[in-house]
Amino acid sequence: MRRRFIIHIDIDAFFAAIEELLNPSLKGKPVIVGGLPHERGVASTASYEARRYGVHSGMPLRKAYQLCPHGIFIRGNYQIYQTFSEKFFHLLSQYTPDVEEASLDEAYLDLTRCRPLYFSFSRTAREIKQRVEKELGISVSVGVGSNKILAKLATRRAKPGGLFEIGEGREEEFLKDLGIECLPGIGPKAQVILRMLNIHKIGDLWGLPRPTLRSLFGLSGEELFLQSRGIDSRPLVTASVPKSVSRETTFLQDLWDRRLLLAHLAYLCDRLTLPLRRGRLFAHIIEVKVRYSDFKTEARRRLLVSPVQEMGRIYSIAQELFLGLFSSSRLSLRLVGVKASDLARARPLSLFEPYSERSERLGLAVDQVREKYGFGSLLTVREKMLESLYSFEKKRGFVLKTASLTK
Ligand SMILES: [Mg+2]
Repeated sequence: MRRRFIIHIDIDAFFAAIEELLNPSLKGKPVIVGGLPHERGVASTASYEARRYGVHSGMPLRKAYQLCPHGIFIRGNYQIYQTFSEKFFHLLSQYTPDVEEASLDEAYLDLTRCRPLYFSFSRTAREIKQRVEKELGISVSVGVGSNKILAKLATRRAKPGGLFEIGEGREEEFLKDLGIECLPGIGPKAQVILRMLNIHKIGDLWGLPRPTLRSLFGLSGEELFLQSRGIDSRPLVTASVPKSVSRETTFLQDLWDRRLLLAHLAYLCDRLTLPLRRGRLFAHIIEVKVRYSDFKTEARRRLLVSPVQEMGRIYSIAQELFLGLFSSSRLSLRLVGVKASDLARARPLSLFEPYSERSERLGLAVDQVREKYGFGSLLTVREKMLESLYSFEKKRGFVLKTASLTK
């Protein structure tokens, strides 16, 4: 079988690290995120300083307080962590489309398909680690191996803040002396059974024949047999990229007013960018479709060298395409639609059009406001115009199918 190149990357004490970033005076202190000492609930993250007192994630807060009474307890802000997590995955997606989001702060990257792009995997792993640490200002641990389980075990060895690579042919040597509790397939019950058999290290497991493991643990015994030898053929579970995203409106009365149609197109482009931002998707093709009053349908598309996500850029392309269709027509329109396709989950890399993080942040901020206060709480100038034209037309008894922007 072809050797795979898997990188596992995990942010060290994630929530606590973000709190330290927001408030540098917390650095070097025992920080416990999850709630206040007297509250119910558990610690979700403990900084390494707090771990020295025996505090760990999942521990009841009261117990954490007993162990570390001078610890700094913080409730935490999930939304900020989420934003950080998005940045983290955004950065990782620039190295390969094969990224598994194992949790908010933990990812697997498969570089096998991208092999020709990279001179050396060890170097790339190191580069990713350095970039995440520099650009996000937090420490990460990185493991490199030929499959998921080996990469994850390598990260465990690397923690905190290190990088560990299991070289080809060194798998057994690496696994031999690790405790059996390191294997994800071994729960507390299995541990008790194995320790009774005087099996404490992964290397000890190799002495147990396959049928014995099977009779002890059933199907998971089979898995254990493979895991303990560092065999793991599981593919990464990556979020699938949709083929296209589109928005369209059929008007109740056919429209001729160019201003109204362009304003409507702007509204559709705005609607279209939400799923693109959510899915961190960029489109290589923008297409505009119109249906005339005689039911004839026409479409125009543009193929883009550097893919787009931002509303302003999508609208300016859509506007050109639309005018190309509409200006030559003598008919009014009954439908307008816009579609983004050939989607990729990667930031465009172009020397000439530097990617603007500001516009992305603006987009995400707009989404948050609209989520809370409704779509109409923030409108672009064109949408505002559509809204006023719409209420003007409404007074004249004219109704659009998109009944209201303020839904
Ligand atoms: Mg972590």
